[in-house]
Amino acid sequence: MLYEELARCYDRLEGTSSRLEMTSILAEMFQEVPPDELRQVVYLSQGKLHPDYVTEKLGMADKLILRAIVDASRLPEEQVTELWMKEGDLGAAAESLVAQKVQTNLFSQPLTLERVVSNLRGIEAAEGRNSQNTKVKLLTSLLHDASPLEARYLCRTVTGRMRVGAASMTILDALALAFGAKEDRADIERAFNVSSDIGTVAQQLAEGGIEAVRSIEVQVGRPVRSMLAERLPSLEEVLEKLGGACALEYKYDGIRVQAHISPSDVKLYSRRLEDLTSNFPDVVEGLRRSFKGEEAILEGECVPVERESGKLLPFQEVAHRRRKFGMEEAVRDYPVRLFLFDCVKLDGEDLNMRPFPCRREMLASCVEETAGLQLSRMELVDSAAEAEEFFSAALEAGCEGIMAKSVLDNSVYRAGNRGFLWIKYKKDYRSDLGDTFDLVVVGAFAGKGKRKGVYGALLMAVYDPESDVYQTACKLGSGFDDAFLAKLPEMLEPHSAPSPSLRLSTRMEADHWFEPAVLLEVMGAEISLSPVHTAAESSLPEGSGLALRFPRFTGRVRDDKAPEQATTAEELLTMYRGQSSE
Ligand code: ATP
Repeated sequence: MLYEELARCYDRLEGTSSRLEMTSILAEMFQEVPPDELRQVVYLSQGKLHPDYVTEKLGMADKLILRAIVDASRLPEEQVTELWMKEGDLGAAAESLVAQKVQTNLFSQPLTLERVVSNLRGIEAAEGRNSQNTKVKLLTSLLHDASPLEARYLCRTVTGRMRVGAASMTILDALALAFGAKEDRADIERAFNVSSDIGTVAQQLAEGGIEAVRSIEVQVGRPVRSMLAERLPSLEEVLEKLGGACALEYKYDGIRVQAHISPSDVKLYSRRLEDLTSNFPDVVEGLRRSFKGEEAILEGECVPVERESGKLLPFQEVAHRRRKFGMEEAVRDYPVRLFLFDCVKLDGEDLNMRPFPCRREMLASCVEETAGLQLSRMELVDSAAEAEEFFSAALEAGCEGIMAKSVLDNSVYRAGNRGFLWIKYKKDYRSDLGDTFDLVVVGAFAGKGKRKGVYGALLMAVYDPESDVYQTACKLGSGFDDAFLAKLPEMLEPHSAPSPSLRLSTRMEADHWFEPAVLLEVMGAEISLSPVHTAAESSLPEGSGLALRFPRFTGRVRDDKAPEQATTAEELLTMYRGQSSE
């Protein structure tokens, strides 16, 4: 397959914001791709070379990409830099320069997908003293033979800013459409949720049809996309929703960890599917000692604790464990305890379709509790009064609330889904300040007065999985301290974009735009209808959206969450409706 076909597809995707149109553009291309190349095409459509859980980062610093463009175009660096500044995007600059010299390039070879992937892999793998030169050479060689359109997307791929909005759910739609499996869309999504590998799903579908996709199972070593909880405003409603009786557990506030244990290895993954193994050597060791079976996938929350008393500490303490250096000191200074709450696989048996009580029993049977590793505190209740008591005990123990879990026969582990089989109930729900929301930064406004030189406010969005689009919900200007404001530009710069993201619906004009990537926890007092924001717009009268009133940053950056795990438009709408009926 030629890379040009993929570049043309990207170009068409960039011209639309309609999810339906994107789906059909992708489906058309997927049909043309030889099955053995489909896996790579799917990864590349997301600007990647691997499934989400492989942490290898394909990326080059802007100045190295600039060097490659200079080398390939043989133009002076000043001229290339000037064009880059004018276009605001290295991809567009490369495109324009390649277009200028296209006639004179007599010896170019059409770029095959295979060659592009091989060079990109080389860029990703380059390490050590000469790595910068190696990266520049590999990219220069591709740019030398690239068409203008190919140059645009090659550079965008290595900057990590594709700007082509092919989110996983849209790709799954397109795969279903391309391979005549529209009715089996749910099976395709299930396979993705249990494997976290969209490339495997695509290849199986192309080569073995829907039966092959159905046979994709949970596997030790391949993280499962996390099951998530819904929220309800009162314990009475929680119980009613769960059929009058349920299991209640403490909701610990730390880092969610999915442990993959095999006889030879223990690996830990975050809910963003990042490999956390090296950050928690003590947890790995604890699991090795406590686990009594052969192999398993267990889930739990890793919580910071006070060394002497074992008292639970605020989640911020655990952030020290996410740093890259000085791990030995971090393990010593910031002890943690793992509270296990689920078991998705045990000794060859896939448990994700088993009801929760059965999974919990299996969990209890396979680990020996120690000071550093315990089962989450759980109780079965069938009245609001009992629930209330358990909730108070949870707060007293230093937890942020409770998780209510269905114990009915259908209480399976719904990988990758937020549903009412798990319902969270937190202490914030009772405070006057209201609930917290995890919103994505999509834009920023220049600061004035005291905030001159830093951002004055941020434009924040919710995610709408239905349309696969981010929708603005508020302008956030309070809750920031000076240190955070000073750090923000550096945090957001890697995601800056010359114009609003293609996956953003906005009626506001910000001074700076960002691709959805950074999530902040925001407290809001009230949700109201708004003519300027777009959250949940498709469910509201034309021209209105929902806005979060009096938003305030809580100080928590949700770097444990991917942008698609932000608060959804639907969640905001449910809360708005609940609030208006009070
Ligand atoms: P929040 O922002 O309220 O923590 P969230 O958006 O991170 O919620 P939810 O799915 O809404 O995630 O809440 C579930 C999260 O709570 C899990 O991802 C897990 O990290 C944490 N948690 C703590 N204790 C438990 C427990 N006993 N069972 C399940 N999840 C738990």
